[in-house]
Amino acid sequence: MEEIDLLVKGWYVVTMNATRDIIRDGAVAVRGNEIVAVGKAADLEERFRAARTVGGDRFVVTPGLVNTHIHITGEPLTRGYVPDDTPFEENVFMWLCPLYAVHTAEEERLSGQLAAVEMLKSGTTTFLEAGTIRFLDEVVDGLDEVGIRGRVGRWVWDLPPEPDVYKQDTDQAIAFLQHQLEDFGSVADGRLGAWSTLVGHTTCSDPLWRAARELATEHGTGMSFHMSPAKLDPEGFVAEFGQRPMIHLAELGVLGPDVAITHCVQIDDQELAVMAETGVHVAHCPTTALKVSYGITQVGKMPEMVMAGINVGIGTDGNNASNYSDLMRATYLVAGLFKDARQDPQMFPAERAFEMATLGGAETMQMGDEIGSLEVGKKADLVLHDTERPEWRPLLNVMNQLVWSADGRGVHTVVCDGRVLVEDGAMTTVDEAALYAAAQRAGEAITTRSGLPDKSKFPIY
Ligand SMILES: [Zn+2]
Repeated sequence: MEEIDLLVKGWYVVTMNATRDIIRDGAVAVRGNEIVAVGKAADLEERFRAARTVGGDRFVVTPGLVNTHIHITGEPLTRGYVPDDTPFEENVFMWLCPLYAVHTAEEERLSGQLAAVEMLKSGTTTFLEAGTIRFLDEVVDGLDEVGIRGRVGRWVWDLPPEPDVYKQDTDQAIAFLQHQLEDFGSVADGRLGAWSTLVGHTTCSDPLWRAARELATEHGTGMSFHMSPAKLDPEGFVAEFGQRPMIHLAELGVLGPDVAITHCVQIDDQELAVMAETGVHVAHCPTTALKVSYGITQVGKMPEMVMAGINVGIGTDGNNASNYSDLMRATYLVAGLFKDARQDPQMFPAERAFEMATLGGAETMQMGDEIGSLEVGKKADLVLHDTERPEWRPLLNVMNQLVWSADGRGVHTVVCDGRVLVEDGAMTTVDEAALYAAAQRAGEAITTRSGLPDKSKFPIY
């Protein structure tokens, strides 16, 4: 018999392979951080001697989910402090920027860990960071300890308005990017690494856009930024350049198949065509669109993007716009929003939504041959969903129930890069009680330091 490190068994194994096979009474064999076999549990048990076996006949096994846009600093420790009736510009400039600015290095490290723990415990094993506010060294160190897979980057911008604490001119912004790509190109055996990460919107000069593009190409990484959640971005680009954002960025040579753009709600048909032509990926953040009133159900073109061949992944964004980082809940919204908006049940069927949360995310991350499905040769990133829960029973249609019934609460065990990071619903790498207590202390300290008022509306006594 062949020796393996881990055998993962399930009632159903949702492989997300090319033919989308779901294996009843299936198993996945893992050696080191790699999947070496996928098949019927009985066959694999005959073939392999496993040092450890997890799972069993009450679990649905899926690939780890991929969150293509999440703010792991700035937001997690201020979660929910920004009132939900705040207009977009006030939300960003009067609330978020001041809250981001008062974090210490230790708080950013803690913030990254809290975000990673929330993701892992709800089934996400890989994420693309929106941008670390300031302290990338500490954040990477904290993530390494937790064990999640991800791509990070201190975000840069060189145009006002921005708080003094992270004001940068163009040369400084380019230097930050250069350093992070050199220093964090590949960390923890490639589990973590840096991207060319910009804030986006109207915060970057043309020289910064070009430099960020060149650095991504030079270092063979991806590039990510926000664009056009609201009308502010297209109006700003038209006023400045006489062109809408995607057209301008395409002319600058920024767009390409290694670019992940977040939101893309307020885009026109010409921009959509350019996005399809250049092969960019879109991070669709449904919760933010709902909470910050982007109008995604009225003007969003996600169905048209998919029809045009644009890869659309799913993100949860920041915890003041999306107060949770549970990608299963975001996937549920992706499946539902356009069914209602277009009065068409064919929009984003459960299977399609789950593809976006796994394979689509993997493509966005430039990791299509490494993650996103359970196949031989891919990294061992797996999630075991516990069906001994009310929302999972009776289990009669796995894909429908994964998207429409279940959420991250049912996640029981998570394997990332071959390591069991969540076991029976609890983290194996960090002391959760200590983490949550530290997060509470930090959240109270940060909001106090910001000087921003507590806007809770109901009296508390
Ligand atoms: Zn964002």
